[in-house]
Amino acid sequence: MRNIVYISCFSLLFLLASFTPVGKTDYKVRRVVIDAGHGGKDPGTHGVISQEKEVALAIALELGEIIKKNLPDVEVIYTRKDNTFVELEERANIANRSGADVFISVHCNAIGNPEVHGTETYIMGLHVNKQNLAVAQRENSVILMEDNYEQKYEGFDPGSPESYIMFSLMQNAHMENSLRLADNVENQFKNRVGRHSRGVKQAGFVVLWQTTMPSILVEVGYLTNQKEERYLNDDLGKTYIASGIFRAFRDYKAEIESMN
Ligand SMILES: [Zn+2]
Repeated sequence: MRNIVYISCFSLLFLLASFTPVGKTDYKVRRVVIDAGHGGKDPGTHGVISQEKEVALAIALELGEIIKKNLPDVEVIYTRKDNTFVELEERANIANRSGADVFISVHCNAIGNPEVHGTETYIMGLHVNKQNLAVAQRENSVILMEDNYEQKYEGFDPGSPESYIMFSLMQNAHMENSLRLADNVENQFKNRVGRHSRGVKQAGFVVLWQTTMPSILVEVGYLTNQKEERYLNDDLGKTYIASGIFRAFRDYKAEIESMN
């Protein structure tokens, strides 16, 4: 008898749950955290005429302005608005604390071969080749400038390839949406901005690992390629890049909200 009561209760709850309009929660993308890579004592990489921290900040600020102007229902939060040093953990914390719906980190790439150029957008995951690993290693190496990085990042050693194996075990709950946004960004760069898109890639970026929402890291171009460095230091070039990321975000927001 008791079992029947339990089963009935469960059935009733199940029925109620299935009738609850779960899909009509009206989820909106309301808050975006824009993260200008590096800053302060960490210049990031550099070219002949510029440092990554300056280029990333200029594009991040412009992206935020375009979002505010065109999507007034979206709150824009920056991890830095000037030349300050912000630890990777704190960048992720800012996004997590604010309950952000999207995290966009802006960086510039670098490599020994000056011919290499183009954009890459990363989502969290295990790298499939040494080149992707090298990008993550370079971007993660900043934690060596932080106090107690061994404790803060659970023994993670940015220089050791073995350290990156843990990313193969990690299931990222937001992988699908991160990939959707990353795809939008590279499509915009390729089809609208006229950049050479090197595609969407995966690697173990500490800052993406620690955020708890769809997150991407955009490498907007190579400062080690002279032509690309000039483009990224040109006002119009920066505006084109920021506008491309904006349209990718706007489309992502529309796609996600249309699923309600
Ligand atoms: Zn960087």
